[in-house]
Amino acid sequence: MEKKNIDWSNIGFGYIPTDKRFVSNYKNGAWDEGTLTSDATVTISECAGVLQYAQTCFEGMKAYTTEDGRIVTFRPDLNAARMVSSCERLEMPVFPEDRFVQAVVDTVKANEAYVPPYGSGATLYIRPYMFGSDAVIGVKPANEYQFRVFVTPVGPYFKGGVKPITIRVCDYDRAAPHGTGHIKAGLNYAMSLYAIMDAHRQGYDENMYLDAATRTKVEETGGANFLFVTKDNKVVTPKSNSILPSITRRSLLVVAKDYLGLDVEEREVYFDEVKDFAECGLCGTAAVISPVGKIVDHGNEICFPSGMTEMGPITKKLYETLTGIQMGRIEAPKGWIKVIE
Ligand SMILES: *Cc1c(COP(=O)(O)O)cnc(C)c1O
Repeated sequence: MEKKNIDWSNIGFGYIPTDKRFVSNYKNGAWDEGTLTSDATVTISECAGVLQYAQTCFEGMKAYTTEDGRIVTFRPDLNAARMVSSCERLEMPVFPEDRFVQAVVDTVKANEAYVPPYGSGATLYIRPYMFGSDAVIGVKPANEYQFRVFVTPVGPYFKGGVKPITIRVCDYDRAAPHGTGHIKAGLNYAMSLYAIMDAHRQGYDENMYLDAATRTKVEETGGANFLFVTKDNKVVTPKSNSILPSITRRSLLVVAKDYLGLDVEEREVYFDEVKDFAECGLCGTAAVISPVGKIVDHGNEICFPSGMTEMGPITKKLYETLTGIQMGRIEAPKGWIKVIE
């Protein structure tokens, strides 16, 4: 198979249409068998549930070319399961988990020519999503839905090397207790856009959201979970019912414990203790870990000892081990790697 003529190391994080995408429609209470199509557009009612009442959720994952030339995805079963919880919370029909994984495999396979080669730093981003497609005017769930999967090649997250970022404590809330913070719903992103643009206008890379009820505990950023390292090398990550259960974060905790022999703690993290940590990172599919060098809380700066030029030593080990597993350089725990064949 011949790869597309793309300058892999210089593509950004944008949408590049590829040859095929998967589409399945839900109608009269059932999903059809689905198909791969060349049509990159969606045609729906002007009154579709997704357009009027934001009835939509999504997933994000990646395919990688390993050192020995295989194409693999990372724990797609967890994305399938997470989409089930998103759909249930949004009164959307569940797309069966085994069919979700198969749709991902089929879409990646149909776009093999777009999977960036090993060593380029680029990867193939995979976007499964679902939306209410028929007309609803009274507030209620749609009757018809579309589940789709498209892929798009994305460049290395950190061009010219990893650089620690600066974030601010945000005055806006991301998620209410007992709200929708734990599901991957489009609505969580719509309402975060003002806060992130405001952060950028003030010169910050990201927002640290605190718990909405007490504003004393660390939640997450708009699209990544926090991971902290204590001065005695313990890995700590916030526990809360209103943060999105990141697959990267859950995997990093396993890596910390089983591969690096570190103690790990998933617990409530008070903002007051953040100043005592040695390292801080943000975890998600896009960057795996982005190191945080500085957190600014209304003029008060917390500067981590790891500094503004490099990843902290433990963060770096975590990053290298997990990316090593994803790229096939390090043996993966059983069931983590799904080979596309
Ligand atoms: C997707 C997402 C993450 C990261 O999850 P991964 O499964 O690691 O990609 C973290 N926080 C939010 C709010 C998200 O939407």
